[in-house]
Parts: sequence; C-alpha cells; structure tokens
Amino acid sequence: MSIDPSAPPSGTGCLECEKDGGWWFHLRRCGECGHVGCCDSSPSQHATAHWRETGHALMRSFEPGEDWWWDFDASASATGPELAEPQHRPLDQSAPGPVDRVPDNWQSLLH
Ligand SMILES: [Zn+2]
Ligand SMILES: [Zn+2]
Repeated sequence: MSIDPSAPPSGTGCLECEKDGGWWFHLRRCGECGHVGCCDSSPSQHATAHWRETGHALMRSFEPGEDWWWDFDASASATGPELAEPQHRPLDQSAPGPVDRVPDNWQSLLH
C-alpha cells in the first residue's frame, strides 16, 4: 500500500464508465496510480472495483472542494500528500455525469 503523488489522474471521468458508456455520481482518484473511478453510490462502483482488482487501497475524492482520503483496506478515513494536478474534475462537468448519459431517473438508481 503506497501513494504516488506524481501520478496524474487517468482522466476527467470514470475510466471504466467512459469505456462502457456508463454514468457516475461522484468521482474518486486512486492515490497509487491515478485511476479515476466512480463512487459507491454510482451504479457501477468502479473505484471499489479498482481496489479489489489492484489492491490499491488509498483513494481521494476527485470532486471539487473535497480533499478527503479513504483507506479501503481499513474501511476508514485516511490522510495523504498533495497530488499531481488537477486536484478535481473540471468545474463545468456535471455530477452526476457525463451530462449526456445520465438518465432522467438517476436518483432512483443510486446505491
Ligand atoms: Zn464507473
Ligand atoms: Zn490504482
């Protein structure tokens, strides 16, 4: 378990949702490799899936104004260093997002 502060985020949206044509609620950034995945309220929960696949346990919120960390192994909040820019998704990007793929009934689809 480690953190690489120099790893840039993998993109502005959830890596797997962008591939699959899915949508997300909030975004989380892996502290070890920069993978951006969707949160556990999102339909596909790709941030947790990334932890299960890779063992990368420390993630940080990728939402504007949020700088908290989470340790999946410990199921507890954590602390970490400053990470490579950008610190969060673009401000003009919606949450949930992306705006053209969020269904009208998205609230009833959250976990
Ligand atoms: Zn996702
Ligand atoms: Zn990772």
